[in-house]
Amino acid sequence: MSATNLLEMTPDEIVAFVEALGEPAYRGRQLATWVYVKGVADFAAMTDLPRGLRERLPAVAVVSPPAIVARHVSRDGSVKLELGLADGRRVQSVVMPDGDRLTLCVSTQVGCGFGCAFCLTGTMGLERNLSAGEIVGQVWAARASLPSGARLTHVVFMGMGEPLANYAATVKALRILVAPLGFGFSPRRITVSTVGLVKGLERLARENLRVNLAVSLHATTDDVRSRLMPVNRGWGLDDLLAACRRFPLPVRQRMTFEYTLLDGVNDSAEEARRLARRLQGLRAKVNLIPFNEWPGAAFRRPAPERILAFQRALLDAGLTATIRWSKGEDVGAACGQLAS
Ligand code: SAH
Ligand code: SF4
Repeated sequence: MSATNLLEMTPDEIVAFVEALGEPAYRGRQLATWVYVKGVADFAAMTDLPRGLRERLPAVAVVSPPAIVARHVSRDGSVKLELGLADGRRVQSVVMPDGDRLTLCVSTQVGCGFGCAFCLTGTMGLERNLSAGEIVGQVWAARASLPSGARLTHVVFMGMGEPLANYAATVKALRILVAPLGFGFSPRRITVSTVGLVKGLERLARENLRVNLAVSLHATTDDVRSRLMPVNRGWGLDDLLAACRRFPLPVRQRMTFEYTLLDGVNDSAEEARRLARRLQGLRAKVNLIPFNEWPGAAFRRPAPERILAFQRALLDAGLTATIRWSKGEDVGAACGQLAS
């Protein structure tokens, strides 16, 4: 029997695993606490477990996060981590400091099959899905790499890949992140960003996870959106926004709409006003992402005045609109610059 990676298990599954070894449930809770809450991988160091169990565990279990194979530190303080998976493939995670926040951006797939025209990850195609353990393993590995005293406060699913196209692993990873004997994050500190898969949104609505949702919109007409995002040819803006309206948002929570600003493509004042109209009645906020350029990209970032004018038009229409001046651009760690 090969050793099972405990990072593939929810805390409840770890408890069941330990019970199957003939131990009481509380031993399983202790093990989950060591692995997830304390971040300890070495069974020998788990001092409150009986010696017999500590000695049996290595034959049946392992705590195996992806290995950090490279770190790129940006001028703005964000750090891009290159993580090696067991099959030799690589994914990237980005640690982004911002005031008293420390946010980790995780990947859910190697590559991505959605082929959005402005996204470098999209040019890779989909290599494969990540497992739940490979997703939470990024959090585990990033946390272990922090200087002492530093603590991750937020996790965003905005790295490589489309979370809802890797649905089961994403949902399992979310459950491990929010479980008290898992990483113990408040769901309000976790955000899942999606290209807007209508079926996936409908499924996610039933999970009662209460995490934040960010929907990548990037256009106000089907014509432009289908040009930028092939996914829109199957499910148009009306379908997507209807699914967003049906999504059961927890009280006081708002849905984020991401809008990457592309010079001369989707950044006119008229489009800002149309965006505000389309989002009417939704508990929404807009996150504007000035395009992050990459070699060979067919788009440009608009001039700063145009970005600010777009934001101003949204604010004037009564919407909350922030601009995400991306982090880590100089090391290829900004939104849409991840590829391996
Ligand atoms: N697949 C998911 C999450 C990953 S991308 C999604 O598409 O939502 C995170 C955000 O960055 C998305 O809103 C995406 O559209 C945006 N993005 C992709 N490439 C970008 C680029 N080059 N510049 C700015 N934003 C980009
Ligand atoms: Fe995939 Fe998101 Fe990039 Fe589109 S923007 S190609 S969905 S990672």
